[in-house]
Amino acid sequence: MLWSDTMYFGSVRFFRHLLLGITGLIIFTLAALTIIFGVMLNTEKNKAIEASAKYTEIVKGDNLNIPKDFQLNDIMAVLKDKGYTTEDIIEMLAESDTKAAGEVFRRQFYNSDNANIAYTELYPNLYAVPPTEFTEKEKTIYLTFDDGPSANTLLVLSILEKYDIKATFFVSGSTTEEGKSIMRQIVEKGHTIGIHSYSHDYEEIYVSVEAFLEDLNNTYNIVYEATGVKPDVIRFAGGSINNYNRLIYKQLIAEVTRRGFVYYDWNVSGEDASPKATWTSIYNHVLDGIKDHSRAIILLHDSADKERTVLVLEDLIQELQKQGYSFDKITNDVTPTTFGYKS
Ligand code: ZN
Repeated sequence: MLWSDTMYFGSVRFFRHLLLGITGLIIFTLAALTIIFGVMLNTEKNKAIEASAKYTEIVKGDNLNIPKDFQLNDIMAVLKDKGYTTEDIIEMLAESDTKAAGEVFRRQFYNSDNANIAYTELYPNLYAVPPTEFTEKEKTIYLTFDDGPSANTLLVLSILEKYDIKATFFVSGSTTEEGKSIMRQIVEKGHTIGIHSYSHDYEEIYVSVEAFLEDLNNTYNIVYEATGVKPDVIRFAGGSINNYNRLIYKQLIAEVTRRGFVYYDWNVSGEDASPKATWTSIYNHVLDGIKDHSRAIILLHDSADKERTVLVLEDLIQELQKQGYSFDKITNDVTPTTFGYKS
């Protein structure tokens, strides 16, 4: 017996059995893992589908008061943590909804009387007269100031006046008397007043096209009431394509364009909104950025905490004039600089 065992352990048969055994074990383990992960993934997917179905049921139902505790975003955040891409989640949502997944997203948190109205029908006064054609001037700089008005706007205005330069102010739409008076001064001094964002809260305005239009309409009305000017140029908060609007930016661009507005991004930034911004950093960002462009739309800010921008402005103007640039304001027939998406 002992002799025969010894024979078996060293034999060709033994190694053949050993090999078969190991192969079998590997196959079994792989199969088991596949089943376990498959079930886990499916559970996640089912949860999302369930959530989406529940959401759709609520939205489609008579009662449009979406419960505050139902946060589809939370479920999405969990799925993203688990490695699902936005595209995966859209697909999951689409599976439980015959409507386009985009529609589900669009209506995600939108809860108002307007929920059943197409956004194209909203705000019948929120229209502008589009230009017949665009013009392009070489060796020209368009200074743009976002997030005002503030006391700094007045300082910027006096510097621009000293150099007889016209610029563009994309305002946030202040409701205070002082803010309205500053908006009037922008217009009286011959500059362009454009719309930026009323709340400037990315998570709020980019949750849906409706939410964006509501914010745009607020700013539009404030500017119009304060200045008598119907603004026709727009700067999206965070730029036309950003991390908050990537699911709806095409619709946003198409909708503002359909309404006759022209939107402008920038090709040079002073990076003055960065908390680390210094006189030197703003100066260098603009002058380095300008090297690549003969025509530049420069992003700067005139909000209350941007003293550095005010301090560096005069030196920047002098240097850019020395380099042979002339300055102009944006009007809606100036060829837009955009981040690339053509509607
Ligand atoms: Zn801004």
